[in-house]
Amino acid sequence: MIQTDVLVVGAGNAAICAALAAREAGADVLVLERAPENERGGNTAFTAGAMRVVYRDIKDLRVLLPDLTQDEVDGTDFGQYTAEQFHADMQRVTEFRADPDLVEVLVSRSHETLAWMAAKGIRFAPAYGRQAFKVDGRFRFWGGLTVEVVGGGPGLVESEHKIASEAGIRILYSARAKGLLADDRGVHGVMAVIDGVTTEISVGAVVLATGGFQANVEWRTRYLGPGWDLAKVRGTRFNTGEGHRMALDAGASAAGHWSGCHAVGWDRNAPEYGDLAVGDGFQKHSYPFGIMVNALGRRFMDEGADFRNYTYAKYGSRILAQPNQFAWQIFDQQAVHLLRDEYRIREATRVQANTLEELAQRLDGVDPDGFLDEVKAYNAAVRTDVRFDPTVKDGRGTVGLEVPKSNWANQLTEGPFLAFQVTCGITFTFGGVRITPQAQVVSSEGTIMPGLFACGELVGGLFYHNYPGGTGLTAGSVFGRIAGTQAVAALAG
Ligand SMILES: Cc1cc2nc3c(=O)[nH]c(=O)nc-3n(C[C@H](O)[C@H](O)[C@H](O)COP(=O)(O)OP(=O)(O)OC[C@H]3O[C@@H](n4cnc5c(N)ncnc54)[C@H](O)[C@@H]3O)c2cc1C
Repeated sequence: MIQTDVLVVGAGNAAICAALAAREAGADVLVLERAPENERGGNTAFTAGAMRVVYRDIKDLRVLLPDLTQDEVDGTDFGQYTAEQFHADMQRVTEFRADPDLVEVLVSRSHETLAWMAAKGIRFAPAYGRQAFKVDGRFRFWGGLTVEVVGGGPGLVESEHKIASEAGIRILYSARAKGLLADDRGVHGVMAVIDGVTTEISVGAVVLATGGFQANVEWRTRYLGPGWDLAKVRGTRFNTGEGHRMALDAGASAAGHWSGCHAVGWDRNAPEYGDLAVGDGFQKHSYPFGIMVNALGRRFMDEGADFRNYTYAKYGSRILAQPNQFAWQIFDQQAVHLLRDEYRIREATRVQANTLEELAQRLDGVDPDGFLDEVKAYNAAVRTDVRFDPTVKDGRGTVGLEVPKSNWANQLTEGPFLAFQVTCGITFTFGGVRITPQAQVVSSEGTIMPGLFACGELVGGLFYHNYPGGTGLTAGSVFGRIAGTQAVAALAG
């Protein structure tokens, strides 16, 4: 039998933050990771490493970005992202359903947690590539998301594992937790299958950090509803809800939006699960600068309702609901310089044509006449009297359309025209287990379950309907760190 003070289940960002905090507090820490080593890092490895964090001014940013040069400071309008803005974004996009106590912890501890990560050796940089545009000779950040990890998700996983190993944390790969062992005094062990051998692990406390259940097609259909079996999984194939099941079996309370998830526009021909070699490259997030049409050739949502950070996570489900679950994103030459790097990968499902009539013939699965009528009506409705500015909600919208476009509307007039076909890619599920602000798992009776903590995508109650981009990693870090610290405090108690 294996023994440890704190057992962390999973080895993504939330798990490693928990493990580092527990180790820092003096505990012996063991991490079980279901994936083999070459697929380690969970969904974290697929991210761009963008992290939403509160900063009032450049001084706060410098704590996280010590390498910032004076030239960068002079040439950039970083603005600020206050606690009030973060609170407001969380409540607005979740339609005021997010648990205010958890949001308070997330927001108030975001900066100190990233500073803690930086002090441990995680390097951050300004997200110039994806979150800033140059206007009048200066970069301007938009959408409350300024910081990313150097090397993106793979860089984060690499650094975290190196720091964990140097701190003396043991990580076992191909090690799948199966169930919690608990008695009236709380959780005291875990049954696991390690390299094919069923093993009992005796523990002082357990931190569950096993991600969502999005890679479980049966649960997706059961909880998210019909059609979700057809979505593509953007990240790891290992997040199948086993942490949810283990916690619920042991008596935990379910919490949050179990029929909701984060899902985006994702290449129509992407594989069933994420591909680490492509990472997040299958996503297509520049739709605010073009239009999106379905098989009927019709627009079906406001592409410019808000900055993409505040709409992308809910638009995957809108695409899934279209006939044959696809859409085409259309751009003309005015938008090409604004397209994100993911539009240039060789795996993109893309067509090009010099005229709209030619393009209509090339949009696989689309009614050409419907499409041409739609573009004509759209072009006629654009408010060309308003100045286009991608760094603010510019109000350059449409007038009189049944499906409006509220910002960044340009007429589609300048060929060659480009089109990219997308379907729904699911990122993670919102439903999870209930925790206290101290990351203690709460039972269905409303009591704290001794010895059991949870963090990361497994936690329910933070996200409903939608999600502000860059919050998943920050939430995982904040609650991971708390879970690790509290798990050690519980050992003493
Ligand atoms: C393509 C993509 C891009 C994204 N971009 C961003 C971004 O830029 N910024 C951002 O904030 N968020 C982003 N996200 C969301 C982000 O990935 C998550 O919010 C975050 O990484 C979740 O961390 P986690 O530790 O909870 O889960 P994960 O990183 O998924 O880790 C869970 C781990 O648990 C393991 N596991 C599961 N079951 C078991 C078991 N039974 N036993 C042992 N181990 C188990 C899994 O193998 C996995 O390693 C993105 C997600 C995807 C898919």
